[in-house]
Amino acid sequence: MIPKKLDHIIKRGKDVLTNMRKNGVVYKFDCQNCNSCYVGQTKQHLEVRIKEHKCDIKKHVSNQSVVSKHRLSNNHEFDWVNTKVLHQESHWKRREIAEMCFIKRQEHSINVQKDTENLLDVYDSIFKCM
Ligand SMILES: [Zn+2]
Repeated sequence: MIPKKLDHIIKRGKDVLTNMRKNGVVYKFDCQNCNSCYVGQTKQHLEVRIKEHKCDIKKHVSNQSVVSKHRLSNNHEFDWVNTKVLHQESHWKRREIAEMCFIKRQEHSINVQKDTENLLDVYDSIFKCM
């Protein structure tokens, strides 16, 4: 019999692997050095999108994302490996709405909050049970 703790670690490892192979997802990763997080959505496989996030830091500073800016200005690093899949949705519009709902719910997200103000409460209530 596998000890409970080890069993948990194995299961977690499997979850991480399957998450990275999912596409059409809303995802979240946390900063390792502070309580900030980032919520995003992609139609690609999650691992492809995470790679893009990591490489973004090589771009010219004027084209860098909020993720790279957070890494550079604070000298922080994100916990990429433990990226969580919050929601899976193949329809892009529904995925975008789900993303906005999840951004709105984070207290310390580094996301640019520009879109969430116009978000209808009805959409928010749809995703409340998730
Ligand atoms: Zn940080």
